Amino acid sequence: MKHLIIGAGAAGISAAHRIVKEKPQDRVTIVSEDREVYSRCMIHKFIGGERDAASINFINDDLLANKNVEWISGVTLTRLDGAAKAVYAGDKLIATGDTILIATGSVSVTPPIGELKTAKNAFGLRHLSDARSIAEGAKKAERIAVIGAGLVGLDAVYGILEQAEKLGRKPQITVIEMAPTALAINLDAHAAEAYQRLFEARGVTFHLGSKVIDTKGDGAGNITSVELEGGTSVPCDLVIMAVGVRPAAAFLEGSGVELTERRAVKVNDYLETSLPGIYAAGDVAGLSGIWPNAQKQGEYAAYNMTGTRWAYDDRFAIKNTVNFFGLLSLSLGAINPQEGDEVLIKEDRNNYRKLILRGGVPAGVILQGEIGGSGFWLQLIKDKIPVSGLGKSPWKVSYADFYGLETNGEYKWVV
Ligand SMILES: Cc1cc2nc3c(=O)[nH]c(=O)nc-3n(C[C@H](O)[C@H](O)[C@H](O)COP(=O)(O)OP(=O)(O)OC[C@H]3O[C@@H](n4cnc5c(N)ncnc54)[C@H](O)[C@@H]3O)c2cc1C
Repeated sequence: MKHLIIGAGAAGISAAHRIVKEKPQDRVTIVSEDREVYSRCMIHKFIGGERDAASINFINDDLLANKNVEWISGVTLTRLDGAAKAVYAGDKLIATGDTILIATGSVSVTPPIGELKTAKNAFGLRHLSDARSIAEGAKKAERIAVIGAGLVGLDAVYGILEQAEKLGRKPQITVIEMAPTALAINLDAHAAEAYQRLFEARGVTFHLGSKVIDTKGDGAGNITSVELEGGTSVPCDLVIMAVGVRPAAAFLEGSGVELTERRAVKVNDYLETSLPGIYAAGDVAGLSGIWPNAQKQGEYAAYNMTGTRWAYDDRFAIKNTVNFFGLLSLSLGAINPQEGDEVLIKEDRNNYRKLILRGGVPAGVILQGEIGGSGFWLQLIKDKIPVSGLGKSPWKVSYADFYGLETNGEYKWVV
């Protein structure tokens, strides 16, 4: 049997590992635009010079040296023939498979504003090639505008600050964000402000609640300033765009693979697409946008591709970790309360903890500083287990409050 995996990221590589384990005699072809295997979560460390490409490679075994595994790298597929299970770059047939896994991740969104789409000095941050361009540009840039203060935008700023420190430079970095806080989809305002202060202490300026409406250029293809609603002009010689991603599914047009309203690949519980034998996993499937889930989906898809039916039932995707300058945060579920929710906050000099209770059931938790116990909170939130009525503060609740013993001595969940 021949398996074709499109993408050498978290989902694709984890699927390849699983196929090789399950069916060592089967053949696996991986096709990727990437010429290197690397963790996207670490590309800011590449910008900062903390890591090189080899040290962000996340394959720690001889997968790609396996005689049944072929990796075709540096090829951008432009078409999938769903009926023939074949993929093409232009007119050139690249590979076929008895089963196919689509694991192409996401692409950075470029807002259709001013010259952002065409400028020579404006980059997204998704691929190692983007990180290389940003690292090069930042070495010379005096003024850098970062559009978007989410995790990717702040990753870019962090990498640039690291690089600047090493080079003894002090570029002026301005972050522009439409939302009223940084990290608005990861953390609440209080926890996000802690990061904003850490960046500000290193000279970074934030324009929150601000919208980019235009750019000005030098007439030679470079942006020289980013214009904000209200008249503020942010001069710059490097622009980083971090305003979001969309599934990398454009090459599937005409393939017969159905997409969702959000243009992600539509999958069933077995991660199979609308075409039998063709699966999707990771960001492109739109079930979540984080690394561990992409890996897990790749593994589950691989089980299904090799004949073991395995339903992917972990649709809980609302978890975020943030770590800048040694300050760790984790959020699970709801970040901000809805009307009628109870909010419990515990804070000291080094820690911030917030729990949102919806009808006595944890709906969300934010842990900043010390993030221990997150597995416990995840289970309570996912399984909707009430913590009110146990006669103690929800902060004092632990596994011991829920576990009993089976007659054979095994632990059982009793709530
Ligand atoms: C800067 C940054 C920081 C991040 N930080 C975190 C974090 O801290 N924690 C976390 O959990 N997640 C983080 N993420 C998200 C995480 O990296 C993604 O969720 C994860 O990489 C998704 O894995 P994937 O396999 O679906 O796609 P990807 O890892 O994006 O891999 C996609 C693969 O498909 C290939 N490909 C795409 N299109 C084509 C095509 N047409 N033809 C051929 N090959 C193609 C690409 O070359 C690549 O090999 C971060 C992402 C970025 C960009």
